[in-house]
Amino acid sequence: MGAFAGKSVLVLGGSRGIGAAIVRRFVADGAIVTFTYSGSRDAAHALAAETGSTAVETDSADRDAVIARVKDSGALDVLVVNAGIGIFGDALAQDSDAIDRLFRINIHAPYHASVEAARQMPHGGRIIVIGSVNGDRMPVPGMSSYALSKSALQGMARGLARDFGSRGITINVVQPGPIDTDANPADGPMKDLLHGFMAIKRHGRPEEVAGMVAWLAGPEAGFVTGAMHTIDGGFGA
Ligand code: NDP
Repeated sequence: MGAFAGKSVLVLGGSRGIGAAIVRRFVADGAIVTFTYSGSRDAAHALAAETGSTAVETDSADRDAVIARVKDSGALDVLVVNAGIGIFGDALAQDSDAIDRLFRINIHAPYHASVEAARQMPHGGRIIVIGSVNGDRMPVPGMSSYALSKSALQGMARGLARDFGSRGITINVVQPGPIDTDANPADGPMKDLLHGFMAIKRHGRPEEVAGMVAWLAGPEAGFVTGAMHTIDGGFGA
């Protein structure tokens, strides 16, 4: 019997990286886990087979598909919104449609998924959104749309915490710094630049982020809501 035995957990964006670590953590702790994927079908089905979780295809850029997925999941004990993308480069040269798609995935989907989940969530339900330390600190050029999207989650969590607090539902943002995933490999070209900003000069591990998510979803965190929880090796310090 794990800490989440029998609990119903939905992870939006669970096929790879931080999301996959979150899936593994909740499964290990006894939860019944469903996760979404979009581009990584093979990785998603391999993870589902390995863990006994359920993989379902849902594009987080498609608002109505996200809402339908959350609605069809029934009364969730825990919703984790992890899916997110970055577009890096000269703001003056970036494609407007691509930027709007980033906003749909990184901002619109977390909002609509959180609201939809709260409709059926029981007392004590938990919503956890993966933001970024870049919501607080953006020390390099070329990432303004990403930083904007992660800052937006802060206002969302503060507001929805008040909307849902009377029902015992909490909502929190986990804000990682550099974490070793496909999106930000520990041996990638950004390594030295990123480590230069940090107090602990290494990339974090996806499992470290999953541990913070699990704590926020667990019984010790019932009084924690509307807050940002940074796990960044001191990147934002
Ligand atoms: P990865 O690129 O390694 O993985 C992204 C995950 O999100 C994949 O499972 C991917 O699924 C899913 N995803 C992306 N777009 C969509 C979509 N349109 N619909 C459904 N799922 C989608 O990223 P990370 O694991 O590094 O990042 C996860 C989260 O953590 C993001 O929100 C990111 O912004 C945040 N973060 C990451 C940091 C890092 O340094 N790694 C630092 C700070 C924050 P699929 O491939 O199937 O589409």
